[in-house]
Amino acid sequence: MIIDSHTHRYPSEVFQDPKTFSDAASEEHWLELVLPQKGPRLQGWANRNQMINDMDEGGIDRCALLAWYWEKPQTCFLQNEWHARWIKDDPNRFYAFAAVHPEMKDPLGELTKRHEQGFFGIGECHPWVQGFSMSNPSWLSCMEFAQDQGWPVNFHVTEPLGHDYPGRTASPLEDFLWLARQFPRLKIILAHAGGLFPFYELNPRLKPELKNVYYDLAACPLLYDPSLYRLLIDAVGHEKIVWGSDYPLKIYPGRQSKPDFSTFRKDLIEQAKLSDIEQEAIFGLTFLSLLN
Ligand SMILES: [Zn+2]
Repeated sequence: MIIDSHTHRYPSEVFQDPKTFSDAASEEHWLELVLPQKGPRLQGWANRNQMINDMDEGGIDRCALLAWYWEKPQTCFLQNEWHARWIKDDPNRFYAFAAVHPEMKDPLGELTKRHEQGFFGIGECHPWVQGFSMSNPSWLSCMEFAQDQGWPVNFHVTEPLGHDYPGRTASPLEDFLWLARQFPRLKIILAHAGGLFPFYELNPRLKPELKNVYYDLAACPLLYDPSLYRLLIDAVGHEKIVWGSDYPLKIYPGRQSKPDFSTFRKDLIEQAKLSDIEQEAIFGLTFLSLLN
């Protein structure tokens, strides 16, 4: 089974007019990313049929729908409503992750409800954009919930030294280490090759503390030289890496006229010369193992 562990989906009323949506919802950070005032526009969009067609064309069985790191609690709730509907419509094609915000009236009640609806995790989270600290007590109770339920939590990670782009907001790597220490059984997925955090696993004192930390490859073709993939596997092992594209982001702006799943998958297989076992793990088995 081929699984893309990192995609995003929006209802058509949102992507037909992102500005009106974000003005009404006060989600300026999201708008700056999907519709930057300056620079290239890399955000693509896809409705249900388009996404499922692209999945079929790329040989993708299932996608994890990740929530966005909304600044407002009510937008988190709204996205969970979209996701609940979409996994009901297509239970064999999508896994839903939940958005959560510590300023929700009852974050644990929200997570419990989504758990009952068949969600599988939390994220993508970005506390520094969402306006709370990693040690916020209400947030930590959500992390405890995730640990108890065996839910993975996906975080957007920004490389500390890397590229400047619209809406760039730092996500200090030491905070992820702190979280991993607080919750040694919590499955943490650090997105975008973890902002190169995985290379700290070469430090033998840190490695045991990071045993429940995983890395997804979302948007990596936009961010890194493709030699990264093999280096990453050699550094942390293929069993800690899950493939994700960030679809419908245009991650090959020079080569793709529209977002797709197959360009990145092929590129990764070729560039890293993945063995069959590595492919099975990175394209599905490891992610499945994180879902319980
Ligand atoms: Zn991200």
